[in-house]
Amino acid sequence: MPATQRQIDLARLSLSSGQAQSLDVEVSLEPVSFGDQQYRPAERTEAKLDISRPTTGYALRLRFSGELAGPCTRCLEQARLAVAVDAREVDQPTTDDEELRSPYVSDDTLDLARWANDSFMLALPNKLLCRSDCAGLCSVCGESLNDADPEAHKHDTGGDPRMAKLRGLKLD
Ligand SMILES: [Zn+2]
Ligand SMILES: [Zn+2]
Repeated sequence: MPATQRQIDLARLSLSSGQAQSLDVEVSLEPVSFGDQQYRPAERTEAKLDISRPTTGYALRLRFSGELAGPCTRCLEQARLAVAVDAREVDQPTTDDEELRSPYVSDDTLDLARWANDSFMLALPNKLLCRSDCAGLCSVCGESLNDADPEAHKHDTGGDPRMAKLRGLKLD
């Protein structure tokens, strides 16, 4: 198991033009927030880093599966999410074209930690759900509607809003 690396010295790989190398690396992902909840990814995440040397500079590809665990943003049950990341960067230091410069490479050093975290953030959905069709919580009684009998949550059968209010008070 390789140690978690924050930076990779690309020059040390001594790749010549046309050569490529694949590295097994570990990245450490930072906590992510959805709404006001914080989610902590797995402490260490194994990743594959492909480095190839075109005529000049580097072409890089980073792949990993980032895992998050925490409360579902709809129903608050424990949820687990695995996000597949497949990111690519090109860095050609001799060009003036900004598109061909990578913000993660400078002086032959790859800022692996920042790249991994940025691409993880980009790959995340905007909610963390326990399942894609999570029904959330009942707006009247606050219970989870997943696997619940819909009949049990027709709270306002009496039709009198004051009665519904009274029932609400009793549940407190
Ligand atoms: Zn849920
Ligand atoms: Zn209910």
